[in-house]
Amino acid sequence: MMKEIKCTIIQDLLPLYIDEVVSQDTREMVEKHLQHCEKCQKAYETMKGKLYIPAENKAPIIKKINKKWRKKKVFISMASIVTTAIILLGAFAYVFYYETVIPYSEALFKIEKQNDNQLTLHYSGESYAAVNETHPMTFEIDGEKKNVSFIFYTKTMAESPSRNLFNYEKGFNDQEYTFNLVESDTVDAVYYVDFDVEKITAGKDSWDSILKRAELIWEK
Ligand SMILES: [Zn+2]
Repeated sequence: MMKEIKCTIIQDLLPLYIDEVVSQDTREMVEKHLQHCEKCQKAYETMKGKLYIPAENKAPIIKKINKKWRKKKVFISMASIVTTAIILLGAFAYVFYYETVIPYSEALFKIEKQNDNQLTLHYSGESYAAVNETHPMTFEIDGEKKNVSFIFYTKTMAESPSRNLFNYEKGFNDQEYTFNLVESDTVDAVYYVDFDVEKITAGKDSWDSILKRAELIWEK
């Protein structure tokens, strides 16, 4: 009997409790009750999910709606902060990790055969992110079997401007990067072309079509 009376009181208080407009004593009383009463707990969970509008009293309605609205606004601004953070992280990742192909140009790339049979590629452009080179592959070119290696350089957006900033006065553009290619006796020709091994594996590209769009940069 005692418990039942208390439950109705608690459930009357729940909307106010949910909107955090009760005194500390009432809040403690409700919380204490909720810990032990499954019925009121269920009522609480149900009410918590909804905008609760009691029928009789007008003032608390406005109060509650305002409160709910404030909460919603807080939620929206939190959500937009999170979204902004994700976009910033994405842009950050893009700048630092998204690699683009450095197009071939005779001014930037110079291939050279060293005395010891080593092929060296000199690159004098802005700093690069990676060099992608294939092992020699055999193709039939103009009726002749040739061992061919493909190569391309990539850069990220982050590297070039930072290098420019830090080395501007030193004139870093005079600097050369050298890369040791395959040994010259293992290849007949080196081509500059971008390739994506994943696309080839997926059947969306082939080495033959890559060769067709490739630029010959060294030949025996
Ligand atoms: Zn109860």
